[in-house]
Amino acid sequence: MTAIGFVGPDTPSAADLANCIHCGFCLPSCPTYLATGQELESPRGRLHLISALHSGRIEATDRVLGHLDQCLQCRACETACPSAVPYGRIMEDARAALMANPPTAQPRAWRWRAFVLREVVAQRGRMRALLTLGRLYRRSGLQAAIRGPLRRAIPASLRRLEASLPAVPDGPFRRTGTLAAPATPGARVALLLGCVAGELTPETHHATVRVLDRLGCEVVAPPEQGCCGALHSHAGDAETARALARRNIAAFEAARVDAVIVNAAGCGAAMKEYGRLLRDDPLWQERAERFASGVRDVLEFVASRGLPGGLGRVERTVTLQDACHLAHGQRIREAPRTILRAIPGLELREQAHPDRCCGSAGIYSVVQPGMSGAVLDAKMAEIRATDASTICTENAGCTIQIESGVRRSGFDAEVRHVIELLDEAIRAGR
Ligand code: SF4
Ligand code: SF4
Repeated sequence: MTAIGFVGPDTPSAADLANCIHCGFCLPSCPTYLATGQELESPRGRLHLISALHSGRIEATDRVLGHLDQCLQCRACETACPSAVPYGRIMEDARAALMANPPTAQPRAWRWRAFVLREVVAQRGRMRALLTLGRLYRRSGLQAAIRGPLRRAIPASLRRLEASLPAVPDGPFRRTGTLAAPATPGARVALLLGCVAGELTPETHHATVRVLDRLGCEVVAPPEQGCCGALHSHAGDAETARALARRNIAAFEAARVDAVIVNAAGCGAAMKEYGRLLRDDPLWQERAERFASGVRDVLEFVASRGLPGGLGRVERTVTLQDACHLAHGQRIREAPRTILRAIPGLELREQAHPDRCCGSAGIYSVVQPGMSGAVLDAKMAEIRATDASTICTENAGCTIQIESGVRRSGFDAEVRHVIELLDEAIRAGR
């Protein structure tokens, strides 16, 4: 690869970079710094590299790109930073400005990654076909055999990769149109279906619709909606992310709803930032800002409307894994705790660092399996210390990653989205 630098309008802003005062307060919150102890795997080290690229003092060699690539984009450093450095957007901009180089000069792995995200993940039919293969793989018994008796017959690296794959469930959630229609609705909301959530965690969508119905909301799912583009933004493919944002804005505007409800924190964080994503598009910028102001995480929405009365008992010990893009990206921490604490019989046991990343981070667990595994192992140790029987999540990616951690560590625990436990309490109360 030819050494490259930042190109185009997404180049990180000098003002953003100048905010860093190099104090190092962010280091203890960074999972990759904790795993390696290396300055260049810390927020401060990566900001130093990005500043040097920005001023042209260095070029984006494979070594430099490797350090940027190891970042989970979990944004824990943003929460820890006393100087309000907008690390998340600096890293997204840096990746986009590197991907703005001519295709032949782009890092090969990044080019492939962007191709798969654009041509498979963002294409509903292709994504469903791929996941149908995953479903057949599970149903055939091959997945269970590879995880059981054939375990030792395959190389360790492949075994680790396979262990991170989800067991694709039967009965995907693919409903569109009107999903709930109470007699006298208090609000009309739309549900984001997402690119994989309806296929991999369909029960979360079912529970979301039932809870919103119980709260008196009419729920619709416009069929024209698509992938939110979060993965594309994180991978530096800003153009595909912008195209997906425009499509979703048009689809949800046409539905004329009071709020767009998202039950995957990563998607919600990205959709709340559509205004910035389309900041240079005069035709869409204002629409994007207006759209973003109506996006709500389902837990934020439910907690703000007040929980339904008559909740039944749910006898579980629960630990909550804060999703990075809910706690750090959207600054929402109380809503899931308010919901869990309101459920009779449920005991919430906090982890030492509930907002520390699980290593899922979009496609990170696939493209950086080694570091993702190290971050997951640290997270599972914290979870085990709570001795909880249920691990609550707020994002489909975290659910899949922690399920893989449960399998790997042999821990006997169930992984459920917070909204599923509220749904369970509502049904227990009937
Ligand atoms: S986003 Fe997460 S992994 Fe990346 S530097 Fe910040 S804390 Fe570390
Ligand atoms: S990013 Fe913030 S916390 Fe980290 S070194 Fe810079 S100023 Fe300090």
